[in-house]
Amino acid sequence: QAKHGGRNQATWFEEAMETELQARSGFEERIRRGIAQGEFVPYYQQQIDLETGELVGFEMLARWNSPEDGLVSPDLFISVAEETGLICELSEMLIAQALEDAMQWDPRLTLSVNISSVQLCDPWFAQRLLRLLNETGFPAKRFDIEITENCLNEDLGAVRAVITSLKNQGVNVTLDDFGTGYSSLARLKALPFDKLKIDKTFVAELSKEGGNTKFVEAIVSLGAGLDLPVTAEGIETKEVLEALRKFGKLKGQGYLYGRPEDSRTTNDLLSARKLLRQAIRSNDKNKD
Ligand code: C2E
Ligand code: MG
Ligand code: MG
Ligand code: MG
Repeated sequence: QAKHGGRNQATWFEEAMETELQARSGFEERIRRGIAQGEFVPYYQQQIDLETGELVGFEMLARWNSPEDGLVSPDLFISVAEETGLICELSEMLIAQALEDAMQWDPRLTLSVNISSVQLCDPWFAQRLLRLLNETGFPAKRFDIEITENCLNEDLGAVRAVITSLKNQGVNVTLDDFGTGYSSLARLKALPFDKLKIDKTFVAELSKEGGNTKFVEAIVSLGAGLDLPVTAEGIETKEVLEALRKFGKLKGQGYLYGRPEDSRTTNDLLSARKLLRQAIRSNDKNKD
């Protein structure tokens, strides 16, 4: 009987594996189709100077506008896109769209994008990204790439080469989700980062009764000590904002200021604040 059960179990396991593989390849196929149909779109979340309350730029966050499932969160498709290598095509398509959108923004505003470690291991990535910047005319010094600590587990020489060629052209490099991976000072030193971003799990502690606020405070001082500007993510309430402002000079983003929005809503917001160039540009066109 035990033998029988064992065989059944093996069969069950094989079937489960097969279903899983089929589901994966089905998902991969859907992502591929979604890319071809232009279903992936950039959303933008405001980034604020917490001292002045001024809007400094936006972080682009990918969304999948799927006809079957509606608006799909990146947590559900980025990892599959990474495993299948589709992330390069997907990301570059989104960046191209985002750069075009950002060309209409006030020329003081910055654009940040998230980049996977897979992309940083591709020796041609830097060239292609710089070409996109060139083609749209968006200045590299207003462009930030956000990378996580995972990329330090990859071939560090290859990653460093890509980062260096981007930085040589003025692109800024932010260490995202700081503190959630295997953080150490050696890792912080391994690449020439320009900024640090505190993960929202640490920021969330500031809103809890008896929450551990020491980590945020320590990361802010670390940033100050290393001359690295710090951004806090996940600011949801005024109380959290006030707590952060006591720790030092910070930038930040979160639902308190705004959720990620599509390009139309973002343009409306900028237009209302007179931070859109579109009007200026069409006036210029009328002149000549
Ligand atoms: P991330 O880069 O750390 O982005 C921060 C996440 O926190 C975003 O989730 C954002 O929508 C969310 N968030 C912002 N403010 C708040 C807040 O006040 N409260 C809470 N609870 N959450 C807030 P999202 O958009 O779902 O993105 C998740 C992750 O997916 C991102 O984390 C990033 O790692 C990844 N991702 C998004 N777009 C791309 C992309 O184009 N390429 C790559 N490689 N990764 C991406
Ligand atoms: Mg990010
Ligand atoms: Mg983050
Ligand atoms: Mg995060």
